[in-house]
Amino acid sequence: MAVFDKIVIANRGEIALRILRACQAMGIKTVAVHSTVDRNLKHVALADESVCIGPAAGADSYLNIPAIIAATEVTDAVAIHPGYGFLAENADFAERVEQSGFVFIGPRAETIRLMGDKVSAIRAMKKAGVPCVPGSDGPLPDDIQENTSIARAIGYPVIVKAAAGGGGRGMRVVHTEAHLANALQLTRQEAASAFGDDTLYMERFLENPRHIEIQVLADQHGNAIALGERDCSSQRRHQKVIEEAPAPGISPKQREKIGAACVSACKRIGYRGAGTFEFLYDDGEFYFIEMNTRLQVEHPVTELITGVDLVREQILVAAGERLSYRQDDIRIRGHAIECRINAEHPETFMPSPGLIEAFHAPGGPGIRIDSHVYDGYRVPPNYDSLIAKIIAHGENRDIAIARMRVALDELVLDGIRTNVPMHQWLLRDPGFIRGGFNIHYLEKRLAERKPK
Ligand code: ADP
Repeated sequence: MAVFDKIVIANRGEIALRILRACQAMGIKTVAVHSTVDRNLKHVALADESVCIGPAAGADSYLNIPAIIAATEVTDAVAIHPGYGFLAENADFAERVEQSGFVFIGPRAETIRLMGDKVSAIRAMKKAGVPCVPGSDGPLPDDIQENTSIARAIGYPVIVKAAAGGGGRGMRVVHTEAHLANALQLTRQEAASAFGDDTLYMERFLENPRHIEIQVLADQHGNAIALGERDCSSQRRHQKVIEEAPAPGISPKQREKIGAACVSACKRIGYRGAGTFEFLYDDGEFYFIEMNTRLQVEHPVTELITGVDLVREQILVAAGERLSYRQDDIRIRGHAIECRINAEHPETFMPSPGLIEAFHAPGGPGIRIDSHVYDGYRVPPNYDSLIAKIIAHGENRDIAIARMRVALDELVLDGIRTNVPMHQWLLRDPGFIRGGFNIHYLEKRLAERKPK
């Protein structure tokens, strides 16, 4: 007997297909819920049932809570997997799902809420012994004198952030005291209008950090494990472009120490499911910035180096099972790199939706492709531009990079523009090949690149 009879996949694109594959391998029936423009998605064709939940606009379909709950009811499904994005970190959705008698495949609503507010998240992490960026220790008062002394105590540059912020919005770097008052006022206004909550906090701005994050899994029986780290420092406009695991230069001792802190935090907050602790890493130290209470785009690199199927574990844990692994079972083998293939112009980064005239996926040892596209598939203009992830695994980083280069060169994706040429260039860049660069490296190199 499968742990669940039938699961609704409340997402689209590559992640919906990834979840469908896990369900099928576990003998679980699937329901694809999709918008009107997504009838031709691969997972819709492969699912046992499908329900159209609304028009193209995400707000009317993939964010339409009543329609998703109704689809779950009419299909007699028992659980909902939210994927990433859309409703994955919406505590109200998680609550509604459970109130309607279904299982939300993710943490409890109260955990999502706790970690969704950055001030309460940081407070919880500090208590649990997770290292945080030196900062205001709570919300900022509405008093410039007090805020000036808080900023002085932290030391400039500081970053003012909205407690409810997300997606790289609602934050402002302040380099000198002269700019503090203005920055506070602007960020407060922005936070109020964008998030309906003008709570701000302040922390030290780290000038050249790396982005390193820890993957965790926790069950409902008090067990939690860490599955090593990912280096996601290749970013453009705060968006990850390439991710890899393990992070170059992180020693087993450092990994064990930061992993243990995350595991103890999971136990303390009663975490359930898969999650990621995001850190800035600077001068040998980790500084917590936020937790993602969901599966992440870059989860495959962790799967390749640990051999753990994270989606399967998410589903098992949601069904009340124990984790299939103890901490001692987790061994890191080799190195994995993921390139996010986006439907966008390789130099201007403008979205490039449209008809895929030809698609041929690369293959061979150590290559994994997570993609929903096929010959004749039309990429709609309505959603995120991610159309494929190529993940390369090898005994070491050099082999993984070499395999990735071959895979990128072998990929056929005609009809639309993609960022494949950018990846081909980056995978041959000496700084990338050296590894261990900071979060500004990619943008710096892109700016230096000669216009064609
Ligand atoms: P969001 O939830 O909007 O993604 P984060 O708190 O995760 O916000 O921060 C997003 C990005 O902003 C980080 O990846 C990093 O590049 C930058 N950032 C955030 N806090 C700091 C900090 N204290 N010092 C330097 N950069 C920071």
